[in-house]
Amino acid sequence: MTDYEVVIGLETHIQLNTKTKIFCACKADSWDDEPNTNVCPVCTGLPGVLPVLNKAVVEKGVLLAKAMHSDIRMRSFFDRKNYFYPDLPKGYQISQYDLSLASGGYLDLPMPEGYTRRVTITKLHMEEDAGKTKNAGNLRLIDFNRCGVPLVEMVTGPDLRSANEAAQYLIRLRQLLRWLGISEADMEKGHLRCDANVSIRPKGSDQLFTKTEIKNVNSIDNVKNAIEHEVERQIREVEAGNRVYAWTLDWDEEKNELRKMRSKETEADYRYFREPDLLPLDLTQAWLDKILADFPELPLERKARFIFEYKLPEYDADILTGERNLSDYFESAVHLYAGDPKKVSNYLMNDILRMLNESGKTADQLKLTPAFLAEILKMVDAGQINTSTGKSLLEKVETSGKSPKSIVESEGLGLVSDDSAIRTVAEKIVAANPKEVETFRAGKETLIGWFTGQVMREMRGKADPKLATQILLELLKK
Ligand code: ZN
Ligand code: MN
Repeated sequence: MTDYEVVIGLETHIQLNTKTKIFCACKADSWDDEPNTNVCPVCTGLPGVLPVLNKAVVEKGVLLAKAMHSDIRMRSFFDRKNYFYPDLPKGYQISQYDLSLASGGYLDLPMPEGYTRRVTITKLHMEEDAGKTKNAGNLRLIDFNRCGVPLVEMVTGPDLRSANEAAQYLIRLRQLLRWLGISEADMEKGHLRCDANVSIRPKGSDQLFTKTEIKNVNSIDNVKNAIEHEVERQIREVEAGNRVYAWTLDWDEEKNELRKMRSKETEADYRYFREPDLLPLDLTQAWLDKILADFPELPLERKARFIFEYKLPEYDADILTGERNLSDYFESAVHLYAGDPKKVSNYLMNDILRMLNESGKTADQLKLTPAFLAEILKMVDAGQINTSTGKSLLEKVETSGKSPKSIVESEGLGLVSDDSAIRTVAEKIVAANPKEVETFRAGKETLIGWFTGQVMREMRGKADPKLATQILLELLKK
């Protein structure tokens, strides 16, 4: 049997999180609104109205272009993409065609297997969204709320080589969009939509074979699933001596299968021409500088820095830079604590991430602030509390909002570091265990651990273990 190589390109539509739509003052996010309540003459395309470009859309588009290492065009144009469909009341979509906001660029995907896949970006442009249609019995209903919602469409080259890589692209893109704060990037809500172009070819061939396009997939798992199905189908067809046709396929989530939708339009069918109601978009250098003034350190750069600067394992650095909030939290806790960064990482990875998952909060919303976490770590290091008290404080601080120190005081959680109290117990333990004392004095000094344990048990875990050990050594070496 021939070995096949899989060739995948992804086309994504990203909904930007601006307050208003791209060409009118209607609210952009109407996810929870009644159908057709968030519309105006502009976004429903009534005759005689004029679009006015929302600057915030351009600014968010520029941030994304910069993050994708694209070349930003100082002058770009809007174009009309003409097609007829009930959810498009104007009969055309305002988009950008040949001279769009940016061109070129790439996104690097560190794969769990250890290699990095570089995915090129072939198109990056702004456009307006269309409405939605849905079936209700015999009726076909239309909701125009989504008309005019700002999108960036981004298309990759045919660079992805597996369903896993396609999934990884979406994971990294989603991370980046949230990191930049330009989209909620929630696939279930359609903030991030993905079509996949899939083809196969014999391994070693550099020709591109006929591809099919998979549409309407609404989660990363389903994108992976749908691509895997389609690759298997194409291999079956080719092995049976059949052709692969350029179909558009629809993913049926319930049945877990692909359905043929329609044969695809070609670009010429859209009769693109320049949008006559909008001026060319001119980015001035001053505006560009302002947009990029606080462009953030990106996730992969920050991950590399965390490994280098804080000597974190790659696994920790990857998780801690999964979200910008979390990585900011980590870094400010490290600075405030001024101890071993790995200890901060352990608290975050084991306990605080679980708190975040359970509460649905982001790191910046915690009452357990980086300063409070640092305070807990310092108290453990200083022997004022033991490790398990430290852990239990996390929840207590988060629910009460009180400082760790005040909780330790009011609940009496502190370790006894009173020399005489520990000494009394230690003397009792030494007196009660003459056999062990003899063994210790005969040279088995590792027994000190056992003695310390006895003192700790007697004091129900509240003795400062370092101090207990020190006092015991004094007594035993007399
Ligand atoms: Zn409107
Ligand atoms: Mn589009």
